[in-house]
Amino acid sequence: MKIILLSLYGSILLCASSVSAYQCTFNGDINGTSVGWFERDVVMQVSNVNGREISAADLQGISAAAAQSWTDVPCSDMSLRIGEMVNDIRVGFDWVKGIGARENKNIIVFRNGNGQSVDEWLRSTSEYAITSVTWIKSNGRIVDTDIEINNVNTAYDHCDVSSEDIYTCESGTADLQSILTHEMGHVLGLDHPTDSSNRESTMWASAGLNEVKKRSLEQDDTDGICFLYAAEETLPGQCTVNAERVEPAVFTLTRSNGGCSQSQKIDIVISWLILLLSSSNRIRRRRGDT
Ligand SMILES: [Zn+2]
Repeated sequence: MKIILLSLYGSILLCASSVSAYQCTFNGDINGTSVGWFERDVVMQVSNVNGREISAADLQGISAAAAQSWTDVPCSDMSLRIGEMVNDIRVGFDWVKGIGARENKNIIVFRNGNGQSVDEWLRSTSEYAITSVTWIKSNGRIVDTDIEINNVNTAYDHCDVSSEDIYTCESGTADLQSILTHEMGHVLGLDHPTDSSNRESTMWASAGLNEVKKRSLEQDDTDGICFLYAAEETLPGQCTVNAERVEPAVFTLTRSNGGCSQSQKIDIVISWLILLLSSSNRIRRRRGDT
């Protein structure tokens, strides 16, 4: 209990100061606790389904690079790793099978729309990807996460990057490593920041095509991950109050917190976290828009 109270105190200070505007994913509503992994070694596995432009083998390597960005943060001891490739395309959590069951792997999978119903992209055509997060309501413990990549409506590339300003991408493509780095922030329990001073952060809810800057974490991102998984703490930090969060949240026990896209289309029940086209005049930060 003492740890929780201290964490709450820290949360208030951080949010009130506006120095850090990261957002945690909340367990219920703004007055509830946030969610997080109780483990500090989280493994995701890539499905063996090839994408249209990028193979499953390359997805494996790109995912590992994206995960490493979060693992490398010095003030956090969270380790996000990519395990062996799996022959599985199912997402979600089977409560009957339970935590750690084979059916409840954390997978990363392309959705190609190749005719199988599970392979269709039923959400907005302008969304890049969606991350589904499942947690235990009573304590906020994340037990499963899955990333689905919209390769039906978005062409992907692994851009050749020398720096954030010097890089080469296929025209009209999204950089898969950038998108996955963002989605993995959701995997770890982060939400989109709402303070416009954090537009350059990886977790900002906007991204353009041919953009690679989300590969590298900004201060806001590292502040968030270190608050959730500080190296000296056992339990995840609790963001229970956030002065910048003004709209009520809509949650279900198992919900999606991804749907990162180029437009503002959001499903109010399933998802309210999106990745928007980075044209400022199209950006709205309202949650629950459709
Ligand atoms: Zn997002």
